[in-house]
Amino acid sequence: MQFNEFVANDKLIEEITEAVKTNTLPHAIILDGAKGTGKQTLAKIIAQSFVCSSDSRPCGKCAACIKAMHSSHPDIFTANGDNTGELNVDAIRNIRADSYIMPNEAPTKVYLLLNCDKMLAPAQNAFLKVLEEPPANVAFIITVTSANMLLQTVRSRSRLYTLYPATPEAAAEYVLRLFPERDYGDILHAAQLCDGNIGKTIGMIESGGEEAKKLADEIFVAVTKGNEYNVLTLTSKMSQSRVFAVSVLDFLTENAAECVKASVGAKTNSAIASDAAKRMTKNRIFRLAENIERAKQVLEINVNLNFFGTWLSSVLRV
Ligand SMILES: [Zn+2]
Repeated sequence: MQFNEFVANDKLIEEITEAVKTNTLPHAIILDGAKGTGKQTLAKIIAQSFVCSSDSRPCGKCAACIKAMHSSHPDIFTANGDNTGELNVDAIRNIRADSYIMPNEAPTKVYLLLNCDKMLAPAQNAFLKVLEEPPANVAFIITVTSANMLLQTVRSRSRLYTLYPATPEAAAEYVLRLFPERDYGDILHAAQLCDGNIGKTIGMIESGGEEAKKLADEIFVAVTKGNEYNVLTLTSKMSQSRVFAVSVLDFLTENAAECVKASVGAKTNSAIASDAAKRMTKNRIFRLAENIERAKQVLEINVNLNFFGTWLSSVLRV
């Protein structure tokens, strides 16, 4: 993939492309933005531009680019915070030691540190040491949903690029290329529900997520209105599959987050959430958000789906 194939965030892409051309791309880059805005995709294109051997980087055609695209380039290393231990303090120390070794074949060695949201302070401090005395020929690209999850000292030694969702139309056009057999109208509708977030739109199309979104909204309204019978009937519909139940809970989480925003007077585009915020006390809203988080953890431990709906209806009532 090349920079011009990246959807939305035109100004930022222009800035990065220019920096690549003039060899002024900083050696510590933070990409932040909501889940699904393309941070990892962009991180990989930037990594490719560091190893590409052509004049217009990344060309997408040279041997280095091909290797990068197949995740087999010997000078691009990936550590993912979603995988246990990959970004803990020991792992970071290993990366630090490794970064002082010369690249294998590219002019620059690239470390992709993905999903750094849960990177703990000791690991960040270990990382800071390499930023303070950066080895030559090394680039670090960090992805995180919010740069605020990183220590100020790490942030101040890196260049921050923030990614925003596309417009629903641009998102739909992109997703249609991935799912050419699907109806454009359906995709556009999904993209609108996801506020132009491409990752979420893809998730919704793949998982039949519109149904999950609808059920989540119904559950949320019933919960916030205190309609216990409806809540029980609706949550029992989640048992059709685990993927579906996870998807419903994800949408419930979003509803709750929007409701929290509305309750503190922040702007929300969700009519359901702002209505619900008027019906509940702040305490109740925060508790609801916490209980939904708890439900997600319970679902992760392989609980019996038939009981999950009943259990959830009781938890959401509290
Ligand atoms: Zn290339």
